[in-house]
Amino acid sequence: MSKSLFETAIETLDRVAKMMNLDPNILAVLKEPERELKVAIPVMMDDGHIEVFTGYRVQHSSVRGPCKGGIRYHPDVNLDEVKGLATLMTLKCAVVNLPYGGAKGGIKCDPFKMSKRELENMTRRYTVMIMPIIGSRRDIPAPDVNTNPETMGWIMDTVSMFEGRTVLEIVTGKPPDLGGSCGRFEATGRGVMLSTIQTLKKKRCDPEKTTVAIQGFGNVGSIAAKLLAEKGCKIIAVSDVTGGLYNPKGLDLNSILKYIETSENHLLKGYHKKGTETISNEELLLLDVDVLIPAALENQITGKNASKVKAKFIVEGANGPTTTKADSILEEKGAIIVPDILANSGGVVVSYFEWVQGIQCFFWDVGQVNSNLEKIMTNAFDSIWALSEKEKTNLRNAAFMIALKRVGNALRERGIFP
Ligand code: NAD
Repeated sequence: MSKSLFETAIETLDRVAKMMNLDPNILAVLKEPERELKVAIPVMMDDGHIEVFTGYRVQHSSVRGPCKGGIRYHPDVNLDEVKGLATLMTLKCAVVNLPYGGAKGGIKCDPFKMSKRELENMTRRYTVMIMPIIGSRRDIPAPDVNTNPETMGWIMDTVSMFEGRTVLEIVTGKPPDLGGSCGRFEATGRGVMLSTIQTLKKKRCDPEKTTVAIQGFGNVGSIAAKLLAEKGCKIIAVSDVTGGLYNPKGLDLNSILKYIETSENHLLKGYHKKGTETISNEELLLLDVDVLIPAALENQITGKNASKVKAKFIVEGANGPTTTKADSILEEKGAIIVPDILANSGGVVVSYFEWVQGIQCFFWDVGQVNSNLEKIMTNAFDSIWALSEKEKTNLRNAAFMIALKRVGNALRERGIFP
């Protein structure tokens, strides 16, 4: 059985702390989330019965600022996963030097089996249950798997009803008409594209001659696919929970994107086009491509399949898609992995912009958002790449080193209360 995301995160923390001689007192603090909240969420379902869902909000660290992290709706949500994702958020915010700590939330549910009314009621009740610990200067949620701008709008409205004013800055990833930032919806996928292009540039590879496979065709995967295709890359495979599509000559992305606008639950199932075959998710991971982008869920590249992965570059759109075992197998094979805390940090960077805009009630145009995002991500990428060369280590270790140094310094400078 695969290790939990939290166990993997702690394993990486331990390994990197050792490599950089991190003060054991600092490591001890960072190995335990600051606060873990479990809530029961009763919802009156459409047929009149009451279903009680379990939800979580974990704040891993507030050392560098208010906690920040998404909310996930999925049948597999559990406390260990939320703790792991919250830990990664602390490090991700530090990698791109945002004044935030890390948090994450989730509800164990199957959103595809729920009506919109049930989802809205569940979201509003969950919001009220976590309200004692969230807040625009304490912990600011955002979207993650199976949550979207509409979900964020419900959270914003619920908090606003309790506070008696419109609290734009309580949540990010909102719809643009409700204080959402231009470019936020595309930001994580854009960051994945930027990380991929930077990697190709460092290795002197031409995007026009680069083939890409992407697992997960939701917010992150579909936008990364579209933006990479715009840069000239050939997207030869994409997949979602229903399976994958493959065309060695390059997929017709526009027709796929159009198809999922109206398909059931916006899924790929049922798409047909001459020359395009269907493949499984497992087959997609093992395709002979230059770039593999896992952009679905954690623990996809494991000790079992890593030796068969052929991609030279793995850009982690998802959080925790590669297990520790797989990491070392891939490294031995010479693959370069752009780690999640860098590759998918575009979302939290533009979430930060949205929060700043909400507080100031002064909104930027999309050009300003995208150029600031590119500046922040390119700087982070360059410093991680340089450190990995200097320390002769991989990009994940280098990214963790930079993040741990920043969080560790903040902790040392603040001291331990009381
Ligand atoms: P999403 O819900 O929009 O899309 C998830 C995609 O993964 C869907 O296409 C879904 O069908 C697919 N999927 C689900 N289970 C699968 C399985 N078992 N096998 C293959 N595909 C499967 O979610 P998202 O926001 O795109 O998030 C994807 C990943 O990126 C997650 O790991 C998330 O934590 C991470 N992430 C998201 C953001 C963001 O801003 N949305 C930011 C940083 C990281």
